Amino acid sequence: MNSITGTTRLTALLGSPVSHSISPLMHNEAFRILGLDYVYLCFDVNEDRLDAAVYGLKQCGIRGFNLTMPCKNRMVKLADRLSPAAGLIGAVNTVVVDDGIMTGHNTDGVGFMRAVRETGFSCSGASIVILGAGGAASAIAVQAALDGAGCIRVFLRSSGRFTQRMSGLAERISRETSCTCTVHDLADQAFLRQAINESTLLINATPVGMAPDTEDSLITDTSLFRPGLFVADIIYNPRETRLLREAAAAGCTVMNGMNMLLYQGAEAFRLWTGHDMPVDEIRAKYFL
Ligand code: NAP
Repeated sequence: MNSITGTTRLTALLGSPVSHSISPLMHNEAFRILGLDYVYLCFDVNEDRLDAAVYGLKQCGIRGFNLTMPCKNRMVKLADRLSPAAGLIGAVNTVVVDDGIMTGHNTDGVGFMRAVRETGFSCSGASIVILGAGGAASAIAVQAALDGAGCIRVFLRSSGRFTQRMSGLAERISRETSCTCTVHDLADQAFLRQAINESTLLINATPVGMAPDTEDSLITDTSLFRPGLFVADIIYNPRETRLLREAAAAGCTVMNGMNMLLYQGAEAFRLWTGHDMPVDEIRAKYFL
């Protein structure tokens, strides 16, 4: 247990629900290891109470906070400044407060790209397929484009919630980065096959395959997999989704969502404290 004193700085998670979150364990252990005088707490706050909660915490001198569902989009309106990635994505998962000025960041994409890079995958000029178009898919698309991807094809349910928003984001990515980003209907299986054939990275950024529905997968035709294709699933419960199991069996390199989760937290930690999170120790304790 960290000892809390009169000078301890507060960091937090705001959202609902938050009681299951691994973030307090990860951050408080990292503060303890590095001997930093910070604490991380969870506050169950829905979107209706977010403005008041943020105002109160800011007045109390909070150093920064994370946001989870359903607060990530509303925070865009409350932040005084936005990082380029948060501005493009339209969602904030980390806020840093400096002299009362709140800067909104989005560390999901940074976390995902760090995890991918560590496997040896080079994003430079790569063609990528992303399944899904929500917050995580948007963050990954933006960061992959900023990191030099050549072509990103996003496949979504055309009747889904994010069709319009993702189409706008794809246009912005194509206009403002050197990456071409396009949006396609997931029902167009022939073009999905072609896109996967032309890509080196396939990412599932939907909840399909997550517990308890662990036998679901958006890719049921396993002939779409091939050796040399890198398949990433950002789900971390279970550690091995059906998608990853079948992709690995077909000779693909695979990665689950654990390191993305760790590294998005590590990036928030760095933004608040200026220190690198001791990720190897945190991984060994909470992420294996
Ligand atoms: P979100 O904003 O709700 O977006 C979910 C996306 O998945 C939407 O495009 C949705 O489409 C699509 N989708 C859902 N069910 C589908 C289905 N049956 N078939 C096709 N598409 C479907 O959620 P999110 O925040 O992006 O999170 C997505 C997943 O990533 C979750 O499982 C979450 O736990 C995980 N995640 C992991 C990390 C990590 O650090 N590893 C970070 C963030 C999120 P519709 O609009 O059509 O519903």
